Amino acid sequence: MSQNIIKCALCGLAVEVEGFNVETGEGLKLFCCAGCLSVYRLLNGDKIKE
Ligand SMILES: [Zn+2]
Repeated sequence: MSQNIIKCALCGLAVEVEGFNVETGEGLKLFCCAGCLSVYRLLNGDKIKE
């Protein structure tokens, strides 16, 4: 049981589906779902590189 579990950058739940991620000034952030990704975008729009 040493799989590399990625945790959602917003809520901390395990990320089971990849693809909800965003590149920021602090590095790549991964999220568990589109909801967490959109909330992060709202809260940290100034950090996101796009
Ligand atoms: Zn989440």
